[in-house]
Amino acid sequence: MTKIRVLDPDTVNQIAAGEVVERPASVVKELLENAIDASATSILLDVASDMTGVTKIRVTDNGEGMNPEEAVLAFHPHATSKIRDIADLSAIRTLGFRGEALASIAAVAEVTVITRSRGAGALAGTRLVVRGGEVVEKSEVGAPEGTTVTVERLFYNTPARRKFLKSRNTELAHVYAVVENLALAHGEVAFRVVHNGKERMATQRSAGLQNTIAGLYGAELARALVPVEGRLPFLRIGGYISRPSESRGSPSQISVSINGRSISSRQIAAAVREGYGTLLPKDRYPVAFLELLIDTELVDVNVHPTKREVRLSREREILPAIAAAVAEALAGHDLARETATDP
Ligand code: ADP
Ligand code: MG
Repeated sequence: MTKIRVLDPDTVNQIAAGEVVERPASVVKELLENAIDASATSILLDVASDMTGVTKIRVTDNGEGMNPEEAVLAFHPHATSKIRDIADLSAIRTLGFRGEALASIAAVAEVTVITRSRGAGALAGTRLVVRGGEVVEKSEVGAPEGTTVTVERLFYNTPARRKFLKSRNTELAHVYAVVENLALAHGEVAFRVVHNGKERMATQRSAGLQNTIAGLYGAELARALVPVEGRLPFLRIGGYISRPSESRGSPSQISVSINGRSISSRQIAAAVREGYGTLLPKDRYPVAFLELLIDTELVDVNVHPTKREVRLSREREILPAIAAAVAEALAGHDLARETATDP
C-alpha cells in the first residue's frame, strides 16, 4: 500500500473545473468565446434566473458548428481544434486554445448541445446531453447551422462552490460585464442578451466601436469620447477615451482588448491614467475603451486559466506609447480649458 494515489479522471476534471468555472459569468465567457472562435456573426445569450440565482445559461450561435464526432470530442478534457502544439501559441488568433472549458463546465453542470456543421445536410444535427462529465444522451436531430449550448444546474455536484455565489443581481452583473467586454472587442459579431424573456442589451454587427459603446452605455457617453491613435512597428493603439470632465472614482471603466481578447491589466490602466497627467485629480480615473493590436509573438496568453491576464514583451515601450497616445488625443482636443471651467 502506498499513501499516494493518482486521482480518477472525474476528480481531476472537477478540480480543473474549479479554475475555469468560478461562477455563471465564467460559463458565459467560455461559451461566448467558443461562439466567436467558430466565426459566428450573431450570438444570442439567453439567461434565466430566480431567487436561487442563475438557473439557465443558453448561448446560440450561427458559427461553423460541429459534426457528431466533434460534438462528443469537444467535451473531452484537453481536446481542442485550435492548436496542435505549444508553437502554435505564439501566433494564436483564437480566444480558446486550452480545450478545457466544455469539459470543465460539463463536470459541474448539466450541458445540452445542439449543433450542425455548416453545409451538412438538414437532418445531420446532433443533440448531446452531458451531466457530471458523462454523455448521458446522444441523438440525431434537425437543427439550424451553428451551435446552441445550454447549461443548467451549475455546481449541482459541488455544493462548496455553490455556497460562494453572490446574490442573483451580483451574478447577473458579472454576466453582463462579460458580454460588454466581448462585444467591445468583437464588432464583427451582433450580440443580443435576453434575461427571463426580456431583452437586456443588443449590439449591431460592424457598427464601429463608438456605436457599440453607444449601444452598451448610452449615446451621450459615446458622443463625448475622444478617439485615440498611436503606433509602433509592432503595436497599434485605437479606441476612445473620455474627456477629463467625465471621470470615475475607480479604474473599472477602463476596458482594454489585445488582439480581440478582453484583458485586465493594472499596468495598462495606469498608463492610460498617466496620459491625463494633471487633467484629472489624483484619485480620479477616465473612462476608456482601448483596442491594442500587438504582434502575436509578443503576447503570452498562457498565463492564467481564464486568460484574463496576459504577459507582454516590450512592455517598457508599449506602456509609454499608450500614455503618449492618450496625452496626444487630449492635447489635440484642447480639453485643458474644459476641465478648468467645469465644476
Ligand atoms: P477550446 O475553446 O480551448 O478549444 P473548449 O472546451 O471551449 O476548448 O471547446 C472544445 C472544442 O469544441 C473547440 O476547440 C471547438 O472545436 C469545439 N467547439 C466548442 N464550442 C463550439 C461552438 N460554439 N461552435 C463550434 N465548435 C465549438
Ligand atoms: Mg473555448
